[in-house]
Amino acid sequence: MIQENLNIVKENVCAACNRSGRANEDVTLIAVSKTKPIEMLKEAYDLGCRDFGENKVQELVDKYDKMPKDVRWHMIGHLQRNKVKYIVDKVCMIHSVDSLRLAEEISKEAVKKNVIMPILIEVNVADEESKFGTTSDDAISLTEAISKLPNIVIRGLMTIAPYVENSEENRLYFAKLKQIYVDIIHKNIDNVFMDELSMGMSGDYEVAIEEGATLIRVGTGIFGERQYTTV
Ligand SMILES: *Cc1c(COP(=O)(O)O)cnc(C)c1O
Repeated sequence: MIQENLNIVKENVCAACNRSGRANEDVTLIAVSKTKPIEMLKEAYDLGCRDFGENKVQELVDKYDKMPKDVRWHMIGHLQRNKVKYIVDKVCMIHSVDSLRLAEEISKEAVKKNVIMPILIEVNVADEESKFGTTSDDAISLTEAISKLPNIVIRGLMTIAPYVENSEENRLYFAKLKQIYVDIIHKNIDNVFMDELSMGMSGDYEVAIEEGATLIRVGTGIFGERQYTTV
């Protein structure tokens, strides 16, 4: 099942790249494996996946130990400051930075462990109350503040678009994130090397690619529906 799903996703990525005149290599597919058992991750790995996304620290760390060392782990979920220390030397990127306080903690741990941590600023472009992320208005000032911290490098922006039936409804939010990204680049802030836009999930990654996504986060589209057990 994973193989067929992956093939479909890759074909869709390719088609969206063609439609928008972009190179296929400019879009990285992150396999979002949260809640899924390690066997499924291994299957995806054997099919060539190297970028995996998780949204919980404990689960990421557990899976990190069980998977080959050349996996690139992406932290895509809300991150509490007291858990930063468990992941800074394990993940290739933290997509969900939305406050200076969180960035300060990441910086502190990165200095301690002598690593440079690439991060994305999470922006709540649709202004949804239920979502984390900085407001669009605050994105630039937050980027400026974080850029001054040691051992952290801002590589771009991330957004989680609203859940919609018709992915076209999210096009304006992806375009808006891209615009904020361009605005920040034009500011030429020291220590900001923005080249990544993390946007698009199973329901809307094709539209996100058309609007400039470089990282797409696909879970259901690869691994199937998630089952959440209630505790
Ligand atoms: C779960 C999750 C995804 C993947 O969602 P699907 O709809 O299953 O593709 C993407 N991004 C974030 C931040 C997530 O938490």
